[in-house]
Amino acid sequence: MQQKRKTNPKRVIGLILLGVMIIAAAVLGVRVASLVDMTFVEMRTTPTPEPVAGNVMQVTPDPSVPTSAPVLRTGSQGEEVKSLQARLQALGYYNGEIDGQFGAGTKAAVMAFQRQNGLDADGVVGESTRSTLYSPSAEPYVPAETAVPAPTSASVPWIRADGLPLLVNRDSLLPEGYQPAELALVCEVCGEAATVKDSAMLGERVALEALTAMLQAAHGDGLTVWQISAGYRTVEKQQALFDEQVREYETKNNLSHADAVSATRLTVADPGASEHHLGLAFDLTVPGAFFKDTEQAVWLAANCWDYGFILRYTKEKEQITGFLAEPWHVRYVGTEHARVMRDEGLCLEEYISRYGRL
Ligand SMILES: [Zn+2]
Repeated sequence: MQQKRKTNPKRVIGLILLGVMIIAAAVLGVRVASLVDMTFVEMRTTPTPEPVAGNVMQVTPDPSVPTSAPVLRTGSQGEEVKSLQARLQALGYYNGEIDGQFGAGTKAAVMAFQRQNGLDADGVVGESTRSTLYSPSAEPYVPAETAVPAPTSASVPWIRADGLPLLVNRDSLLPEGYQPAELALVCEVCGEAATVKDSAMLGERVALEALTAMLQAAHGDGLTVWQISAGYRTVEKQQALFDEQVREYETKNNLSHADAVSATRLTVADPGASEHHLGLAFDLTVPGAFFKDTEQAVWLAANCWDYGFILRYTKEKEQITGFLAEPWHVRYVGTEHARVMRDEGLCLEEYISRYGRL
């Protein structure tokens, strides 16, 4: 007799569950495998991004991490510059305003500090200048040696027998028959450093070479617009200008000759009394601007000395020079004299009366 085997229902349910699990595992396994594959494909085909400088710069610094002090240079401003100016002033290098603006005056003071402390005189306050400046061993300002250089070769016509630069003013007229050593065309020597008002303008070559070096340095400091408006002028040319003005007063204003001459002397230099006769003086201007108020004027006043030029007619010395201030007029005397005049605050008349031996 065939006995029907009774199927155990629990076993059936168990088998069904096992089957479902196997199917589920298979499906899931394929899914997982394909996901892993895709990820590897992605990793192989997507390039790893390179770090970009711009992104790095945008990272906000953690304020709790001390950062090194910023480098200060022309154009910097704020509290850091104020404390720099105060420190330079305390050491005797700076006598301008504590205004937090790093301009030409601050730069000149930084350079003077650097020179005196054996640092590279670049006018920029970086790590080494800062640490020297704020250290107890920072050297205070000492005026330059007052020893005047020995007489230079007599073949240089603008150097006096005692070695000092020739003085030309209303009381010391240009010597009779004075001849410059070597006149050169301003536009040829200065090239791209400045525009020249008159292409035929001349100047003493040694002064033009110093002028060019000075203007190139100004370009390096970001001041690129300069015009040379006046250079060498002969006494004859000056006489002609003077006579022309006298005649105009006589004819147009009906002045007597004596009155016309007096009126002319207010605006036109006496023939033989202008430094332009030497070929060592130049008028620097900025087209379209009143020079006195320009950045160029500030730069010139701070830096001309290091290129052998002096600001010949300043406000402080009007009573001595007899000329109203002319911040655009520089006169070449050579660096050894210019630096002493700067450091001791002397105009040419004072310098010669203090050190002259004639
Ligand atoms: Zn001038």
